[in-house]
Amino acid sequence: MTKGNIGVTTENIFPVIKQFLYSNHDIFLRELVANAVDATQKLKALASSGEFKGELGDLLISVDLNEKKKTLSIVDNGIGMTEEEVDKYINQIAFSSAGEFLEKYKENIGSIIGHFGLGFYSAFMVSKKVEINTLSWKEGAKAVKWSCAGDPAYTMEESDKKERGTIITLYLDDDSSEFAEESRISGLLTKYCKFMPVPIRFGKKKEWKDGKYEETKEDNIINSVDPLWTKKPSDLKDEDYMKFYRELYPMADDPLFYIHLNVDYPFNLTGILYFPKIKNQIEANRNKIQLYCNQMFVTDSVENIVPEFLTLLHGVIDSPDIPLNVSRSYLQEDANVKKISTYITKKVSDRLEEISKSDKAAFEEKWDNLKLFIEYGMLTDTKFCERAEKFALLKNTDGKFFNYEDYRKAVEGEQTNKDKKVVMLYATDAVAQFPYIEVAKNKGYDVLIFDCPLDSHFVNLLESRLKDVQFARVDSESIDKLIEKTESTKFEISEDDKKALQSVFESILPTENKYMVSVENLGETAQPILITQSEFMRRYRDMAAIGGGMNFYGEMPDSYNITVNAENSIIKDIMGDKGVSALTAENELLKQVCDLALLSNNMLKGKALADFIRRSEDLLKK
Ligand code: ADP
Repeated sequence: MTKGNIGVTTENIFPVIKQFLYSNHDIFLRELVANAVDATQKLKALASSGEFKGELGDLLISVDLNEKKKTLSIVDNGIGMTEEEVDKYINQIAFSSAGEFLEKYKENIGSIIGHFGLGFYSAFMVSKKVEINTLSWKEGAKAVKWSCAGDPAYTMEESDKKERGTIITLYLDDDSSEFAEESRISGLLTKYCKFMPVPIRFGKKKEWKDGKYEETKEDNIINSVDPLWTKKPSDLKDEDYMKFYRELYPMADDPLFYIHLNVDYPFNLTGILYFPKIKNQIEANRNKIQLYCNQMFVTDSVENIVPEFLTLLHGVIDSPDIPLNVSRSYLQEDANVKKISTYITKKVSDRLEEISKSDKAAFEEKWDNLKLFIEYGMLTDTKFCERAEKFALLKNTDGKFFNYEDYRKAVEGEQTNKDKKVVMLYATDAVAQFPYIEVAKNKGYDVLIFDCPLDSHFVNLLESRLKDVQFARVDSESIDKLIEKTESTKFEISEDDKKALQSVFESILPTENKYMVSVENLGETAQPILITQSEFMRRYRDMAAIGGGMNFYGEMPDSYNITVNAENSIIKDIMGDKGVSALTAENELLKQVCDLALLSNNMLKGKALADFIRRSEDLLKK
């Protein structure tokens, strides 16, 4: 038997390992199974190059748990190690790179993706003793047993192991006894090893029999060795993608579309991304993309690797070219990560453009569920915004869809104002703003619907991107002011009359708001009185409400414009022959039409509402 000290500079790195890696002990199992996978793949490579001439046998990795003894073994029949190799790879290299790694990253170990680069020695995070029992594939090799009980001293001796391969046995620490539970290990294997490329067995399959689970004779293989993303897209059908999605997210709704990523130059990346139905929940969809490295699960938080808006997608990315043992803040600066991120963004927009062209009807049908994702991308990623302008849609209040170009063409004839700007009208709530939409439509205008949480920001974006286009919410002014034409007739009203009107309205309208009164010709069929809130005021208030940081506007009192329609017959009646100067706050009809205007804006409440109902009843009796 040989004894020695492993090649570390620190006197004892084990307490350090435990302390710094406390947050994520889980990963030890992934690291050990990954080593077993490597050893198996290396043997396959040796066999196919002809260097290894023996029997490969059933290449399998077995994870064996002894709950009573609190030991966990990872068994492979890969290449194994000779005594020299154990000395070199375990005693010298593994431990010195362990020491280096910890020294370098102890400040921010938590931000290293999936704690990568820890390797074999991560076994000591959960063990009081670790044993390696291994027999190399090389002819005439002797089996060796290595053992280390958590200090730099190790022992190495000959072993009687007969089969090729390696057994790593962990004697679990008392404070890591959770890992001696079958359900815990089974959970970890499913999380980290579900798609590793060599079959992994964890005990036997169980069957529900006579009121309890009973072991069967069949091996319980926990992984699928050739997951969908490793296959050729041309060999796959839509159903295959949907089935795989359900495997990844059993609880989620079916996705809208998918993209199969496959590139091997200038970096290597495969994967499948899905567009979930997002509707209005942004946060609920974040961080569902799983990042793999050669079929080994790394993390499901991919921020800093893909642009922020893409974190709303679901699916899998597998790339050996994403540096994993660096801190997250460094990642964004990495040249490969930048290329990967650009590539994915481009693929996503290409795919959307392709679908929007090849199956316009399906694209329109899915638009409501896709819109938030696309708007979020357009708002946060300039490159994506440029591309998305080719396929993004606008929806009008009749449920018709247009791309930006077509919409401009459709409305510019009627909706170009005297300054040669195309005014695009929109509503945020087709029900609440119904009277305004109707007035606009009667004029021959079209009204868009913008009812998603990002729309107040999005309207600003569109205004800055689309040339000579202006957006106006349909209830923000009287229609003739929203789209001002040169020939617009102006109602003549004297300054004195205007003041008189102003004070009459101020005395009958709710006192907590501010009102600006004007008189206009809105057409005989339009409402007698129109209450509007300026586009500017409202947009900034909306943005303040969803956190645009402009709280000043959020705190100003609401101010509204009151437009009296001089052409409306009721207004004509109210003014009578005597004109504005004879009007008083006691005028029942005036009160009634004001209340109706308030009511149609959902602004009539409490006592005012009760008064209105009583007055209406009185009017009916007359
Ligand atoms: P890494 O895998 O990153 O090289 P590790 O510390 O995990 O670092 O392992 C060090 C080395 O020990 C490996 O490179 C490999 O040569 C050897 N090794 C570890 N586990 C096994 C195994 N199950 N079978 C054969 N060799 C192994």
